[in-house]
Amino acid sequence: MRKPATGRQIAVVGAGPAGLSVSHYLARLGHQVELFDSRAKLGGLNEYGLAAYKMTGDFASREVGWLLSIGGIAARCNHRLGRDFSLSQLVAEYDAVFLGLGLQAVKPLVLAGEDAGPVMDAVDFIAELRQAERLDQIAVGRSVVIVGGGMTAVDAAVQCRKLGAREVTILYRRGPSQLSASLEEQRWAQINGVNIRCWASPKSLLAEQGQLHAVRCAVTAERGGQLVETGEYFELAADLLIKAVGQQLGPDDLEGLVLQDGRILTDFEGRTSHPRVWAGGDCRFGSRDLTVEAVEHGKRAAFAIDAYLMGA
Ligand SMILES: Cc1cc2nc3c(=O)[nH]c(=O)nc-3n(C[C@H](O)[C@H](O)[C@H](O)COP(=O)(O)OP(=O)(O)OC[C@H]3O[C@@H](n4cnc5c(N)ncnc54)[C@H](O)[C@@H]3O)c2cc1C
Repeated sequence: MRKPATGRQIAVVGAGPAGLSVSHYLARLGHQVELFDSRAKLGGLNEYGLAAYKMTGDFASREVGWLLSIGGIAARCNHRLGRDFSLSQLVAEYDAVFLGLGLQAVKPLVLAGEDAGPVMDAVDFIAELRQAERLDQIAVGRSVVIVGGGMTAVDAAVQCRKLGAREVTILYRRGPSQLSASLEEQRWAQINGVNIRCWASPKSLLAEQGQLHAVRCAVTAERGGQLVETGEYFELAADLLIKAVGQQLGPDDLEGLVLQDGRILTDFEGRTSHPRVWAGGDCRFGSRDLTVEAVEHGKRAAFAIDAYLMGA
């Protein structure tokens, strides 16, 4: 049930868990929300990022449908902040703004010989799978090497195994206790036949007659608190390399909002350095990059925006 209309208008940018949550709570409080997203579908990583094997059917779009059914939320897909409109325009036209931009850019990892064969970013690989009508049309190698140590690396690796890759290896440059994938996820990877090889870092891709056939790797170690290469090398057979080395805030023009460690700095309730702009979810400094936390950020920011607008 929505409260009576307040006449206040809020722009929400990003329709992932954080943006959907803030929109729904604001609409419940009687505010009018305009929800912008650069993609063709709403849902953020629930729609494009979570591995298909973790989701049931069209769960993400059904959830979006339920969240919007409350009324008071106008969704605008294919509208990108920084390309189609600016933050200062939103601040001028709306009573408040919420940014739930997630982390859209992939951290760089440049390897020698990258043009030797198929190299993909894990998030693009998973998005392609999630949006594919026929999984048998997705190209997956027989031997796949995945670089990274987090949830995204595990998702991509398990997907490759489920799609028929024979040999899938996650390559991580530090030790097992430093993997950011939880123990549960590491176990899940191993149950699915994924090898996790720690203390190794990719150096270059090796090709023969234009076909990738191996990844040359350096053995690493920690000495005096520093990660170093030991001088030993080995080769891993591979016809596909997937990079899962983490995401970062996109190149959107945030017009001087204060950032910390590359994410938007906010107070506990999500207010940024601009008094009428809030932020939440993965793009917020201190986020643990979990769906449940993005939803909580959205909820908390909605109550803070409401208190600000209604003078409480
Ligand atoms: C492979 C993978 C697996 C994961 N697995 C899990 C898991 O099992 N459990 C879990 O809790 N979490 C998981 N996560 C993390 C979880 O998905 C995120 O924490 C969560 O989606 C963050 O929500 P968000 O709303 O902040 O961002 P996102 O879901 O990234 O949504 C951001 C939205 O903003 C839009 N956007 C970005 N820039 C612009 C712009 N300039 N203009 C307009 N729109 C824009 C994007 O299109 C997107 O729709 C996983 C993440 C990945 C990558």
